[in-house]
Amino acid sequence: MNIIFLGAPGVGKGTYTGRVKEKYNIPHISTGDIFRENIKNETELGKEAKNYIDKGHLVPDEVTINMVKDRLSKDDLEKGYILDGFPRTIPQAEAMGNFAKIDIVVNFIAEETTIIQRLSGRRICKKCAEIFHVKNIPPKVEGVCDKCNGELYQRDDDKPEAIKKRLETYKEQTAPLIGFYKEKGILESIEADSEDVDSIVKNVEKILDKFK
Ligand code: AMP
Repeated sequence: MNIIFLGAPGVGKGTYTGRVKEKYNIPHISTGDIFRENIKNETELGKEAKNYIDKGHLVPDEVTINMVKDRLSKDDLEKGYILDGFPRTIPQAEAMGNFAKIDIVVNFIAEETTIIQRLSGRRICKKCAEIFHVKNIPPKVEGVCDKCNGELYQRDDDKPEAIKKRLETYKEQTAPLIGFYKEKGILESIEADSEDVDSIVKNVEKILDKFK
């Protein structure tokens, strides 16, 4: 079962993936996480990507496509995967058609005000990348990850200027993928405006259960 989670930054793709990946026992592939890991480890890829990411721009297609192609060639994916944050442009989706077969695209929809509120309050664990929110998903102890006790931080691109740019980029370059996958007949949309993560996850599971 090869799945894409589509939607604006901050719609909650990472949170929902975290919740469903164990049920289906398939890896979560987040291009944002891979870039952040490379930035942390100061690799060549990380150095190149950082300039774009911090400003809220997309990393160039060629770099991103090669990175995903490489990840999808690994041998832990025989049961499938959830792609979170890829593709983000039509050229990425077209290129992926040559090296991956996608079963279902789940498109999450939320109001812009909800998205801005989620992004600006988001906090991430430095160690295990678990996602929290100062109001919606607060950690038990402020600034500390419930799962691994790691330190929580705010991503540079979750600050106001970068958020604005990321939402513009989403509208211009990523939203057209909704029509692209609708035409292929593999798109399902889910309302993700509510803070009731359990009920959103249940709706995701209803869709994914058809592919088990
Ligand atoms: P995310 O964690 O998914 O919000 O991604 C963080 C940042 O990584 C994005 O704002 C982009 O700068 C970059 N990025 C992640 N995925 C892609 C992609 N598919 N194409 C280009 N840039 C990406």
